[in-house]
Amino acid sequence: MAEAQAKNYKFKAEVSQLLDILTHSLYTHRDVFIRELVSNAADALDKVRLKDVMGEKVADPDQDLEIRITLDKDNKLVTIADTGIGMTRDELIGNIGTIARSGTSEFLKHLSETDQKDINLIGRFGVGFYSVFMAAEKVEVTSKSADRKEPAHVWISDGKGSFKIEPVKEKIQRGTTIKIFLRDDAMEFAEEFRVKSTIEKYSNFVPFPIYVGKEQVNKISAIWREPKSQIKPKQYNEFFKFIAHSGDDALTWMHFSADVPLQFHSLLFVPKTNFEMMGFGKDDEGIHLFVKRVLIDSHSKEILPPYLRFVRGVLESDDLPLNISRETLQENPYMLKIKNTVTSKFLEHLKTFAEKKQEEYQSFWDVHGRILKEGYSDYTHKDQVAALFRFDSSRCGDKESVSLDTYVGRMQEKQDAIYFLSGPSREVLDKNPALEIFKAKGIEVLYCYDPIDEFVLPGLFMYKEKKIMSADQVEMDALKDIPAAETPDKKEPDVEVDKKDADKLARRIKDILGDKVETVRLSERLVDSPAVLVGKEHAMSSQMEKIMHMMNKDAKLTPKIMEINRNHPIIMNMLKIYQNDPRDPLLERAVQSLFHSVLLLDGALDDIQDMASGIQNLLSETTDLYLKKKE
Ligand code: ADP
Repeated sequence: MAEAQAKNYKFKAEVSQLLDILTHSLYTHRDVFIRELVSNAADALDKVRLKDVMGEKVADPDQDLEIRITLDKDNKLVTIADTGIGMTRDELIGNIGTIARSGTSEFLKHLSETDQKDINLIGRFGVGFYSVFMAAEKVEVTSKSADRKEPAHVWISDGKGSFKIEPVKEKIQRGTTIKIFLRDDAMEFAEEFRVKSTIEKYSNFVPFPIYVGKEQVNKISAIWREPKSQIKPKQYNEFFKFIAHSGDDALTWMHFSADVPLQFHSLLFVPKTNFEMMGFGKDDEGIHLFVKRVLIDSHSKEILPPYLRFVRGVLESDDLPLNISRETLQENPYMLKIKNTVTSKFLEHLKTFAEKKQEEYQSFWDVHGRILKEGYSDYTHKDQVAALFRFDSSRCGDKESVSLDTYVGRMQEKQDAIYFLSGPSREVLDKNPALEIFKAKGIEVLYCYDPIDEFVLPGLFMYKEKKIMSADQVEMDALKDIPAAETPDKKEPDVEVDKKDADKLARRIKDILGDKVETVRLSERLVDSPAVLVGKEHAMSSQMEKIMHMMNKDAKLTPKIMEINRNHPIIMNMLKIYQNDPRDPLLERAVQSLFHSVLLLDGALDDIQDMASGIQNLLSETTDLYLKKKE
């Protein structure tokens, strides 16, 4: 409840710390405080307009919705007044007082990490109001809430650790008036041209008139409602900077209007940086939703699916009901149709962007690809989303990447699936024995380094009627009709090892390894390596298992199939030992070590102790043998 007495409060420690930085540093972008206060005023006006159209009773309903700035050089005073929703006493304390907003510490962290140059971003952390202390030695915020029962209060602070709240005695109208008592070094902000040019720079698109003295300074235009042909790239970029609090131009944008059967205007931008990856909270996400010129939600998440959450922009429809709430929006069938259409159009836009501006598209992919990939699970737009994906592959050169369409376009004649393999890097994947057969047959394999690809690619399941499969799970039958690309310049083995004999050896190896492998069989896929571990088709991909194993050591890896290359010297030697004596202990030790080495290549070796002692045993045996031979 309102208290009739003046009362002092302390700022939370991190707010004080932020204020301290703001008051003591000399920033080049000090003018952002005007942008922040004007933007708060505009939000407050939006809120009161929304209440009004929803039929709620507000105090002083006949006031014009506007922002007035007055400059008084003699008294070193700038005043910014709005007729918006205002704040109650509790709101003054909560919004610009004692309740620490999560953005405060995040912004402090950001400042320390960026050498304090990025003051420009303060608004995005939800603590824009405090920027006023870059220019003020004292601030007075007088506010009368739209709630008719609530009396007006004034909040006063010099930004040095505390603030005071007092009741306002005289009767005032709804809205907020901020008196900024300028520091001597900030007197430029009492100059009309300085303030006007700041508003033209940052606040041109504020949808309420902004007066400096008697003159309206901003142009108020809803550019998304205007015909495309009349808007220049510069205007688009200015608008983007305004709504996304961005210092950079946009990477690309789509301006699209529809009339029948759905009526809406949309203007959507892709930023050059990924705000989420930079650590901004989710609060910043979403699209401005307008209905009949009224801002219903400035962060609507109902317009685009979550995997396009890096997009910023505006959507306006005159066919939605004005009294629609965020909750009912979700279920509104008309809204769902708009969402579907605008998502499709936007994905189409990205596809054209990729075709026309390859280099810029690559930077788009590098920055936003990770989030876009989540779209694999959007059943309706799956193919459209998948067409935007890019991968490294066994055929790509440095800095090249491949789309699924390009991959399909250059598939071998009898190839009927898209193959991928996951691993930490190109170097590791290039050496994976499971790929030898693919190399021999000239089949391209997509290289996936991002753990999320483990869900994305199998999740897509098919693309352009081609199955998507992990290269280490494919049955050799699927590849048998594809001819070898070129005769490998390999020497034929001196002796062809009999298949039946080799099969016996395989059985003995399985005996020795026991449960560690599902089975041991002769390989068709190996060219240079003695052995490899492969998975069963349809099993969970091995990379995914490893991720789960990493998270939970108790999650056992399912035993894999070990394939041996009967033309490899090691296997041939093993066979000879086996034929002399199937129980030879050296054979057992050699098999264990071979198994450890393939586990290591597979990235799944847990028992380092075991492996090390195995190697050491073999070494002592071979060095002994070597010495005996010399004697
Ligand atoms: P943000 O605007 O990002 O939330 P700010 O620090 O700029 O962060 O403002 C904090 C809060 O104070 C706002 O969210 C709003 O609730 C309140 N506020 C600030 N200025 C005004 C104003 N002119 N009218 C009404 N409320 C305001």
